[in-house]
Amino acid sequence: MLIRRFKSLSIRRKLLSIYCVSLLCSLVLAFLAFVPVQYFSAKRSLRNEMGVLAETLGLTVRGTLAFDDADAANRLLQSARGDRRIIGAALFQNDGRVLASFGKVADAQHLTTLRGSATGAQFEWTSDTLALLHPIYLEDEPLGALYLLTDLTEFYSEMLLFVATVFAILLIASLLAALLVMRLQNYIAKPILSLTEAMRAVSTHADYSLRVPQEADDELGYLVGRFNHMLQQIQERDFQLSTAKEQAEAADEAKSQFLANMSHEMRTPLNGIIGMTDLVLDSDLSDEQRELLELAKVSADSLVAVINDVLDFAKIEAGKLDLDPVPFALRQHIAKIYAMLEISAKQKGIRFSCRVDDSVPDSLVADPLRLGQVLINIAGNAIKFTDPEGSVSVRIGVAERTGDEATLQCTVSDTGIGIPVEKQQEIFKAFTQLDPSMSRIYGGTGLGLAISAQLVELMGGRIWLESEVGSGTSFHFTIDAVVLEAGMMQYLGGVAETPAREPVDSRRPAQARLRLLVVDDHLVSRRILLNFLERLGHQVTTASNGQEALDILETASM
Ligand code: ADP
Repeated sequence: MLIRRFKSLSIRRKLLSIYCVSLLCSLVLAFLAFVPVQYFSAKRSLRNEMGVLAETLGLTVRGTLAFDDADAANRLLQSARGDRRIIGAALFQNDGRVLASFGKVADAQHLTTLRGSATGAQFEWTSDTLALLHPIYLEDEPLGALYLLTDLTEFYSEMLLFVATVFAILLIASLLAALLVMRLQNYIAKPILSLTEAMRAVSTHADYSLRVPQEADDELGYLVGRFNHMLQQIQERDFQLSTAKEQAEAADEAKSQFLANMSHEMRTPLNGIIGMTDLVLDSDLSDEQRELLELAKVSADSLVAVINDVLDFAKIEAGKLDLDPVPFALRQHIAKIYAMLEISAKQKGIRFSCRVDDSVPDSLVADPLRLGQVLINIAGNAIKFTDPEGSVSVRIGVAERTGDEATLQCTVSDTGIGIPVEKQQEIFKAFTQLDPSMSRIYGGTGLGLAISAQLVELMGGRIWLESEVGSGTSFHFTIDAVVLEAGMMQYLGGVAETPAREPVDSRRPAQARLRLLVVDDHLVSRRILLNFLERLGHQVTTASNGQEALDILETASM
């Protein structure tokens, strides 16, 4: 209990308590050592003093005993009164008769016990007196004895005075020592307190520029020095870290910028290739030429898909990918995606089905393009990793519905190769492919699921999967959507309920012949548009920049 209380004291109080306890111990010890020593030595001196007095007086009164002279004996005995401590004296003859006396005198019986068979002086201490019996001899013949009774009151007073003096000295010494200790403890407590204060400030404000003043060269000074050194190291490390972070951020920014630029730079010529291929495919070609050109177009399309993935990933990493929620008709949108996926499923000989539950509302507000992107990626993977004769199914249902908000759940199940349990989380990480030999056969960047997971998260949902190697995989993901009331779609200008435009057939001449100005800084893009629009029967002029376009507009009466 006491130890526990002591442990909870502050350093300052601990030091003070230690000093006080040790001081008290030394005081008590000093007291216990001094007082008894002094007491016994004072007793010895009194005894010696009285012995000398008795001897001197004994010599003086010896004659009176020999001659039995009571008057002279009484006179001589009175001289003992000179010492005020003597409160009684008597001169005894050998037979025990009192020859002379004054004050308190012991009776004969007491004297006999006091004397006993001893030949020297006998002393007897009581609580308040000291009795002395001094035998008197004449040439070895005992004549009698001198009795002196000393009062100890003065002896005790002196002792008391001594004790009081010792006590006072020790008390003053302790007070002086306590004052000194209180001043000196600052040298120990202060550095520890300032160290504690500094640690508290560092942990609350994370201010590593703080330093504790180092005032001594002892162990505490060393401790303060090491603490300051540690702060300095943290500061330096922080600086290095923040520099490294800035550099990494700058490099990351540069990388994202580079990716965005590269994607743009690659997309433009690729669009040129795809556009030109389309134009050539529209012309008269031999079967072999058409087949080769169609293969070229498929390759270009895959390249565009890869570039789009890389660009999306760069945008997500930079936190720059935003959703574009618009009103749309779900079933119509899913039908288009189904039609697209069905082609590859059919080519591979895979049964492909898609079902939207009746409970799923049709008019929604969400980002249809991003929803389609996730669905195409997951269902595309399912087709990719399922052997011919297998099946892939897509099912869309409602996981939760509160008022005009709905959580849609999409499930894509396949009977493909499956994914081992230990890899099921890894595949959502960027650039992860379970079997590189597969990706050599089927292609892919390892980015699709990473992008899908991020997109699903952006759309307020989550993605997970169940899979068994050799039996197949089911991917599930949810997204949040706002449900539109009937008729609201038209009012909001929904993308899918506007009457579907007829596909443009570039070989069919336009009904009205228009005069058009195409402005593009990219030569190939200008050429593609020029050819495309001229085939439709329009009259086309081109300009490579805004100024040129304005000049043309000014001169030509367009
Ligand atoms: P990739 O572009 O390579 O397809 P993804 O991120 O889309 O990249 O997929 C990562 C990997 O996850 C794939 O390479 C494949 O190993 C595995 N995977 C994805 N879907 C399936 C599936 N339905 N069945 C088996 N493995 C799959």
